[in-house]
Amino acid sequence: MKQGKVTLLSAGPGALDLLTLRAARVLGEADVLLIDDLANPEIATLAPQARVIAVGKRGGCRSTPQAFIERMMCRFAKCGAHVVRVKGGDALMFGRAGEEMTALRRAGVPVEIVNGVSAAFAAAAGLGMSLTHRDHCAGVTFVTAHRQDGSAPNWAALAATGTTLAIYMGLHRVEALSAALLAHLDAHTPAGIVQWAGTPQERRMVTSLGRLAADVRAGGFASPAILLVGGAVAEAAMDAATTRQQREDVIARAA
Ligand code: SAH
Repeated sequence: MKQGKVTLLSAGPGALDLLTLRAARVLGEADVLLIDDLANPEIATLAPQARVIAVGKRGGCRSTPQAFIERMMCRFAKCGAHVVRVKGGDALMFGRAGEEMTALRRAGVPVEIVNGVSAAFAAAAGLGMSLTHRDHCAGVTFVTAHRQDGSAPNWAALAATGTTLAIYMGLHRVEALSAALLAHLDAHTPAGIVQWAGTPQERRMVTSLGRLAADVRAGGFASPAILLVGGAVAEAAMDAATTRQQREDVIARAA
């Protein structure tokens, strides 16, 4: 019998043309696709031969239990199938890939990874800014506002890094996280939000940390969205600033 395997495949932020050529090739070889709900379901058109199973895990909604997904992957792979687990963005960024790789290795199932464009990269592209602009920061920190045990990350320590903060899963906690960051960063620190980055539905805005929560709510931003905080956001393209006042502030900050 053919040896089965699992590929953890990165679907990028949602637009099919942000898939890599490698992802497209692997999709064409898949026997079974397990698709996360942040991944564009149209991805299945690149795997017309595959059996498609949706395994949503959106926060707060009914979702397929993680242990069940892991068992299903092992079972199909042990029957000789090439299982392709499709994850939004990059599979290795906040996607439970670590847990799944451990489970698969324990079960003796070969596993490989296909990288992709993570949401923070698409968000920075949408805003027309570099995440690591050397005039402003020493790098970028990818952080989730939502830890598994319900605790908040150490915002004081993150504020002290001097890096651009790329905050995943932060929208529902934008008030609390901006208040926590404001205890350590200036209210004028540039901040941005990009919803559905890299897709035709993309919406974006640049503001300041002091106004971030109010502007996000007033702008009606919804999940999925990335928050970016730090001096580098001042370099965002002017069309990202949504109001005249915000645009003037962005110009003033850049001057
Ligand atoms: N592996 C994914 C992240 C999964 S966690 C990646 O690399 O992008 C889910 C969070 O990612 C969402 O809550 C949101 O913060 C962010 N996200 C995913 N897709 C997004 C998109 N198209 N635009 C903006 N944020 C997105």
